[in-house]
Parts: sequence; structure tokens; C-alpha cells
Amino acid sequence: MRKSRLIVVLSALALAVSSFGLAHPATAAPETSGTTSAPDTMRGGRIDPHPSTAELTRELQRLQWRSRGAVDVSEIGRSNQNRPVWSARVGNGPLRIMYVTQQHGNEPLGTPAALKFLETTGVGQSAWQRWLRSRVTVDIIVRANPDGSELNWRYNYDPEADPEYGEAGKGYDINRYHSPILAPEDNPATEAGLIQRHYAEFEPDIMVDYHMQGRYADADGEEITASVMWPTRPDVRADMVRLAKQVSVVAQRAMDLAGANVSQYPGGNYEGIARNAYGLRGSGSVLIEFSAMGPEHDRQQIASAWVSMIGIAQSGASGSLQRVDPTWAERIPPRGEPIRTQAASALASHGD
Ligand SMILES: [Zn+2]
Repeated sequence: MRKSRLIVVLSALALAVSSFGLAHPATAAPETSGTTSAPDTMRGGRIDPHPSTAELTRELQRLQWRSRGAVDVSEIGRSNQNRPVWSARVGNGPLRIMYVTQQHGNEPLGTPAALKFLETTGVGQSAWQRWLRSRVTVDIIVRANPDGSELNWRYNYDPEADPEYGEAGKGYDINRYHSPILAPEDNPATEAGLIQRHYAEFEPDIMVDYHMQGRYADADGEEITASVMWPTRPDVRADMVRLAKQVSVVAQRAMDLAGANVSQYPGGNYEGIARNAYGLRGSGSVLIEFSAMGPEHDRQQIASAWVSMIGIAQSGASGSLQRVDPTWAERIPPRGEPIRTQAASALASHGD
């Protein structure tokens, strides 16, 4: 596609983000309160970066009611500790997009971003909202790992586990159990099986998995705020890698215009990782990792995740995403050196 047109679309998004009263991360420190144009969940800084699953459930039910059913919430199953795993679907258009948040329990910020996305796209009858909902169907697994979230750890909860990927006595690393050759009914990681089943039922064209990483700087010493990556296995079909690179470019441009500093994510080739597994299964599959920059940056990072969700949905709906030159993805800079802080180190030692 023409670069200028993508810029126009994404500039509108940047404008929308600036209405949240957000500043560039390099200059932002204490967050200012939101403006009157911000959605309810962001107004006055009231967004909760880490709601309990009970609060999340209430908020999803509220969104379903406030949207008069445009946001369709359903339980896709239960975690090992019997907490609900929710899907929230908005729109009924032909392009199917799936977002997954918080497979790793201690990587929470994709979840409040998803709530904000559902509100922005589902609550209201503006021409833009009706247009978007007629072009795309977006299905979000909002907090895939509610037990890990409650325990504030990476894994699911399974004290019996002695896993190949995970930690004995704690649980499985859900994001290593998506292999296409692993049947959901044989999946030892309960919540990964739920995602596999839901994926098979929904058959998304695009799949984006939201995580958090440690803190890193780029080659100029500027902090990396987010990283993206497409499937890296050589056996993923070329057209799916192409689509994933287009999604990556759109996400990067949208987030950059909203003040982020985005790098590539140096992820591995293992087929059990969602990014690779759902690429193998025939989706444009992308990983987005937000840096754990500390509570004073939560609002900025949530807004960044939100703008990536909107940017992908909007450009997919308009067809501009499908015209992006995928080779631009290669120009996204590599992730640089780690910035050592205690909170960031806890996330730094794992892959996606
Ligand atoms: Zn993760």
C-alpha cells in the first residue's frame, strides 16, 4: 500500500491516543488525568492495570450490557482452580481477528487494553463503530490464565505438574503447549487446550498474542517500550509469514505514532509457542511484548496495547493492512541490551 495512506490512518489513531492525555514515555513520568473524550475506563486515570478475575468478569458483563449485545461475552472453559476463561467477541465482519491476553499470569497489561478495545469498538453506534463491526469480527480471550494472574506468576496452577515447560509443583507454561500436533483433549496445560479449541472454532485470519517482557534499550540508549515478532519457523507457509509481517508493521507504526519505541522480539522456533503454532495452522500470527517499565508507565503501556489492537482491526477492515509492504517488518530494529531492574529481571529470563 501507499505509505502516505497508512500514515493518515495511523495519525488519526495517534490523535485518539493523545486525547488520553498521554505523553511520550521519554518525557512522561507522573500521568496526567484523562480528558473528557476518553472512554470511561480511562477517564480520570481510573483504569485498573490488574483487575481480579471477579472484577474482570463484572466489567465484561457490564460491557455486554452497555453495548446492547454488540460485545458478546462467553465462557470458553475453566482454569484448574475453576476460574472462568472468557471470550469477548465484537463485530460480525468477514475478516476474523483473534487477540489473546495474559497467557502468562504476571504479564497483565494486555487485559485492561482488551477491555478498553471492547468499549471503544462495541459501546456506541457511531458511523466508525458500525463500519468497523461490519468489516471485522474480533474475538478476544481476555486473560487466558486467570490462576496465574491471581498467583502473580507465569505458569498456570497445577501442583501435580512435572512439566517439560513450566515448573514442577507450580504449573505449566501455557505458551509452550499450542503445537498443532497436540490435540486439545491430550493437552496437559488446561488453558492452552481451551485456546486451541477456541481457535479451531473461530478460525481467525489474524492471531495476536499479548505478553510482557523485561526492560531494554535500543542502540541509541532509548528505552524499548514494546517488541513484535512473526512466526520464525521455516515450515510456516510463506503467505502466513507475509501476513504476520504486515500485522507487525501496522502494530509498530500505530504504537510508534502514539509514542512507543518498538523493536523486533528475538523469539525462538519452538512449535508449541502460540506465535509459531498458529502460524503453522494458517493464521497471520504475531507476538507483541510490552516492557515492564513500572507502575508509573502502566497507563501508557495499556494505551499502547490498545492502539495496536485498534490499528490492526482498523487497517484490516479498510484493507490497508493487506497492502502493507511486508519487507518493512525487517526494518524494525532489533532489541538492544537489557536495562537491569528487579521487576524487569523477573520477566527477562524467559522467551515469549
Ligand atoms: Zn509472556
